[in-house]
Amino acid sequence: MADLIRILASIFLAIPKGLATTFKHLFRKTITIDYPRKPAKFAPRYRGLHYLTRYPDGEERCVACGLCAIACPSDCIYLEPEENERGERVAKLYEIDEIRCIFCGYCEEACPEEAIRLGWEFEFSQYDRKNFVWTKEMLLENFDKLEKGRAKGFIREKKFQFRAEPETYF
Ligand code: SF4
Ligand code: SF4
Repeated sequence: MADLIRILASIFLAIPKGLATTFKHLFRKTITIDYPRKPAKFAPRYRGLHYLTRYPDGEERCVACGLCAIACPSDCIYLEPEENERGERVAKLYEIDEIRCIFCGYCEEACPEEAIRLGWEFEFSQYDRKNFVWTKEMLLENFDKLEKGRAKGFIREKKFQFRAEPETYF
């Protein structure tokens, strides 16, 4: 008998509780974003597609030390070093398989040169899995696009709000 009373009480309490939650949300401001017609907004610590940075003179910052690959829990960074004409160590190959990446950010934390960074690009869906491998050239190009966006004022790092037109997401 006691069990029956408890069950009936929980049923009768659950209904007004559920309705109260519904009514509470009826008068709250909507959080649906009308993307892509309206700009997408990101949390300040959002991590998206990677990019490889350059020095102001255009030189690549990556010295192919491999620390990012060691730190990566998904084992999705592959690189091969080489020496350039000045005898400096640079990356001959640098690839990230973005489909394996979990966007944890360990690679950028591990990098002593601030060379590998996670940006804010989120629109990089592909039809073929092999197209998710970003090469060194593509990662450097991401940085160039980012710089271009900054120069045009499309990217406001503090606000993390991007316009919806193509070419401006980085
Ligand atoms: S964000 Fe994490 S999973 Fe992705 S490449 Fe960097 S370390 Fe690996
Ligand atoms: S991105 Fe940074 S950590 Fe990774 S190989 Fe280049 S310099 Fe080393």
